[in-house]
Amino acid sequence: MNLHDITLISFGYFENNFLRNVVENIHHEYKLNIHLREGHLDLSDFYHPARRQYDANKLLQQLEDHFCSDDCKTIGLFNVDLFIPIFTYIFGQAYLGGRSGIASIFRLSNERYGIAPDDNLLLERFSKEIIHELGHTFNLIHCHVPDCVMISGTYVEDIDQKTSHLCPSCKTKLQHKLQ
Ligand SMILES: [Zn+2]
Ligand SMILES: [Zn+2]
Repeated sequence: MNLHDITLISFGYFENNFLRNVVENIHHEYKLNIHLREGHLDLSDFYHPARRQYDANKLLQQLEDHFCSDDCKTIGLFNVDLFIPIFTYIFGQAYLGGRSGIASIFRLSNERYGIAPDDNLLLERFSKEIIHELGHTFNLIHCHVPDCVMISGTYVEDIDQKTSHLCPSCKTKLQHKLQ
């Protein structure tokens, strides 16, 4: 695979400083060039009125069709509540071995759970989520090694339990992909 870059596209408002820190964290794990840019989408097209959430499958498809290129992995960053039909909500999803993924910060903040804000924790959670979805685009499946960022999780507590790093086994698989 001839891979050059990772592109993060923010849809909706994120603080610049916050995104720069996200980029730093992603770079720390993947050691690839990371581009950050803003994207614009009318999210009302993806809104599900009965669920009052946004259709993650349609958003991911939109990203794949209109914002991706073959020479990089693209992750769309959102701040809305994402769902897919079989789950109450999701933090993100990606095409396994594909070009794109999405991640949302919506359910990652302490405030969402009635706890005092913690910007560092929020940064850590969002970075882990993006590193996880990027892993899927590099064809990594869910891992069972404790601490590995590729462990699947349902709750923010699950994200807090793991590190932001790929375990040695996932790292080896990634290296093969990048050669
Ligand atoms: Zn996953
Ligand atoms: Zn692993």
